[in-house]
Amino acid sequence: MTRVFSGIKPTGHLTLGNYLGAMRRWADVDQHRSEALFCIVDLHALTVDHDPARVRRLSRQGATLLLASGLDPDLCTVFVQSHVDEHARLSYVLECVATDGEMRRMIQYREKSARERERGGSVRLSLLTYPALMAADILAYGADEVPVGDDQRQHVELTRDLAARFNQRYGHTFVVPRATRPQVAARVMNLQDPTSKMGKSDDSGPGIVYLLDEPNVVRKKIMRAMTDSGSDVVYDRETRPGVTNLLEILAACEGSDPEKLSGAYESYGALKKDTAEAVVELLRPVQERHKALCADPGYVDGVLRAGAERARGMARPQVDAAYRAIGL
Ligand code: ADP
Repeated sequence: MTRVFSGIKPTGHLTLGNYLGAMRRWADVDQHRSEALFCIVDLHALTVDHDPARVRRLSRQGATLLLASGLDPDLCTVFVQSHVDEHARLSYVLECVATDGEMRRMIQYREKSARERERGGSVRLSLLTYPALMAADILAYGADEVPVGDDQRQHVELTRDLAARFNQRYGHTFVVPRATRPQVAARVMNLQDPTSKMGKSDDSGPGIVYLLDEPNVVRKKIMRAMTDSGSDVVYDRETRPGVTNLLEILAACEGSDPEKLSGAYESYGALKKDTAEAVVELLRPVQERHKALCADPGYVDGVLRAGAERARGMARPQVDAAYRAIGL
């Protein structure tokens, strides 16, 4: 059976981008057709300035939202990265296979470190080595597939390189995984700046729809989305990024084709209105389940405990094998 691994960082409140680019597919597709593991990757949240209590709170909220989005602990494994020591154990070994040059070439590192330096801050070493830990997350479970949004594809490519290099040098140890992506909305953009992605770190962003936003907040954000000059509804990422983003979101909600959808609209206003209602309806069941789960914290604790135990049992032999192969 195909094995699938993917994760989400507790660095902010989860967004519509996380949901459409990753979570929805995990629940609707991956958990049903594969042996799947989904992880709150809290170690990754320490690579940038962080508040310990907030990371803990967001980890909990993230896990609750994964369950609210439809992940079923009877079908898949849901757990928190730091509960399973094997991730950090394997990460070090992969740092011994990676080069600093390939780490420095990662777009996410270049962007985040530049931002940090602009602010006059210092860059944590773990931000540079982040892809080795992400590779460890995936390789520890022998995952064949990694369902992610487009922003994470480069890191999965690096994971493939590291796995293949390790296998070549030290004998076949790792499955070489591949990234999979959704057909629509693999890159949901910020509603106020449709040339940058809808990322979760800016907690008050008017351009970001959060999964727990109230319906009226969702409506307001979408109705105020920045649109492009011109008034006809055209699907073109280059020249019409704002309207194309709305078409992608609506198409992803409806399961339709964004380009075909563009023909059905004559004005931005009508498109915004339909998109807003579609997103409100998309989030409604997730929010309802989230509320019910928050009322039963013991259940979430139990799921995470059992998930970590199962994950540990899978990762331990794989990481032991890598230690033996590399000479430990
Ligand atoms: P973020 O970038 O919000 O911090 P993570 O790195 O935790 O998100 O990623 C969790 C998953 O959500 C990944 O598969 C990532 O590719 C996906 N994802 C994040 N933002 C978006 C977006 N704007 N559009 C599509 N997918 C996204």
